Amino acid sequence: MNKQKDILHVRVLLITGLGILTKLAVDIQQATIKPILFFNLYMIIFIGFAYLLFKKNHILFSKILFLGMVNLLLAVMCSLLPKERWIVVYFFPLIAIAYAIFSDDDNKWRLLFIFLPSAFITILVLTDFNLLGGLKLPVIGSKEGNMNVNVIVSIVAISLCIDFLIKNTRESEKVLRNMTYDIQRKNMDLEKINGELDRFVYSTSHDLRAPLLSIQGLIKIALVETHDVTARDYLTKIADRACKLDDFIKEIIDYSRNARTELKSEQINLYALLTEVIDELKYIEGAERIQYSLMLSPDELLIGDRSRMKIVLSNLVSNAIKYHNPREANLWVKVSANREGNFCQLTISDNGIGIKPEFQNKIFDMFFRATDKSTGSGLGLFIVKEIVTKIGGSIALTSVYGKGSDFLITLPVTENENEQS
Ligand code: ADP
Repeated sequence: MNKQKDILHVRVLLITGLGILTKLAVDIQQATIKPILFFNLYMIIFIGFAYLLFKKNHILFSKILFLGMVNLLLAVMCSLLPKERWIVVYFFPLIAIAYAIFSDDDNKWRLLFIFLPSAFITILVLTDFNLLGGLKLPVIGSKEGNMNVNVIVSIVAISLCIDFLIKNTRESEKVLRNMTYDIQRKNMDLEKINGELDRFVYSTSHDLRAPLLSIQGLIKIALVETHDVTARDYLTKIADRACKLDDFIKEIIDYSRNARTELKSEQINLYALLTEVIDELKYIEGAERIQYSLMLSPDELLIGDRSRMKIVLSNLVSNAIKYHNPREANLWVKVSANREGNFCQLTISDNGIGIKPEFQNKIFDMFFRATDKSTGSGLGLFIVKEIVTKIGGSIALTSVYGKGSDFLITLPVTENENEQS
């Protein structure tokens, strides 16, 4: 679009130049008084210079020089020649030209060259066209001179500018429509690819789990039947790695399920869900040393997606167990729930190893691990954040390294739920 404006500028330069050259030829033939000949000559020099600047790619400077000089010379002409010639009307096409040739990026110049002719017109009217203290040129022929020509040329120039602006706007609309269509199409393609990718991840993870479960089963049988110490040691290590691989695949399935499936709305008894989660995590190393405090009513009901809620709680409680402080005698994990207006706030706290301040803002990133004690994939908290965001809630961490961590989840409470409480 800016290219069109530059083309218009060079056309205006050429047409004005040509017009003034013709006027100069007529003036010479009619032996018009010298100052007018000189004004015309100055104009041609400036227009030529502006054209040169344009050719050298100093386009903005060319526009400024052209409009600046033409406005100034026009103001002087309006003062020196009789007002009856209506030379003042040329300021109006200059306003239209300023509007048309400057792009939105050069808006301040556009505004300046709309303001400048308006200011000149006002001052000329207020001083009764005596801007130069009453200095006037002697007039040959009638006072009105080429009044009609001036008015007609101005009207034609304004019309051409308006026509250009209308065409320019239409062109912009067309480009915008094409762009919108292009974005919509790309968006649809992306959604399709995303869906395919999600389905691929989900089915691959599922397919990977089936043989892995067989391997785990076979290892268990082999462990029962093998009495050789070295072989048993190898089998235990294989079982441990297979278990980690299974955890990783489960995490990928959790992530994919969250991305793929719609949110469910079901009644959740938070207390019962937490008890279930804690029970399932009792085999994690160190879990037996931990005291759990569930500071929420056993009857507390929440409306939400139970399986998603379970993944969130399971990840947070398992982290609280995994990252316990081995030097701490009384290990604890506390879970509390509070209603705050339309939100439910869940806090999961522990007195584990805590998280270093420099890692606290990265903790929810994909595959991020804050300690080399972690044997996990670094996906857990990423999935937790994805789920909480999908539910429309938020999660925050406060942690003191060496003392423990608090994870605060804020979840929106649905209408249905409010009615029940
Ligand atoms: P993973 O446990 O598989 O490494 P997570 O995404 O669950 O991955 O956690 C990312 C990192 O955050 C962990 O590696 C650990 O360093 C840190 N972390 C998470 N929860 C806790 C916690 N309760 N106490 C201390 N560190 C934690």
